[in-house]
Amino acid sequence: MPQPFPDQITSLPFLNAGTILSCPDCGVGLYLLTKKVTRDGTFEGAVQAMAGVPEYKRGSTPKTCPLCQTGQWWYPPGTIHTFQYGWVA
Ligand SMILES: [Zn+2]
Repeated sequence: MPQPFPDQITSLPFLNAGTILSCPDCGVGLYLLTKKVTRDGTFEGAVQAMAGVPEYKRGSTPKTCPLCQTGQWWYPPGTIHTFQYGWVA
């Protein structure tokens, strides 16, 4: 999966609770936000891992989807794929 083009990315200053971080390839939900997160914040302590997905830990969380093994849902520093909005940064 190549890095998303800038015109595919929605700019959002924060993500609300209930936003689902999802795989751009197979579409599976990976992490559910349990509280509002600003874009300069961390997801640690604010996300719940879906079934079969490793717990989110800052610095050690895989960027590749554990189900399809190809989709990359996060391009550091802050471009991530969400179920609701597609790519956001
Ligand atoms: Zn996937």
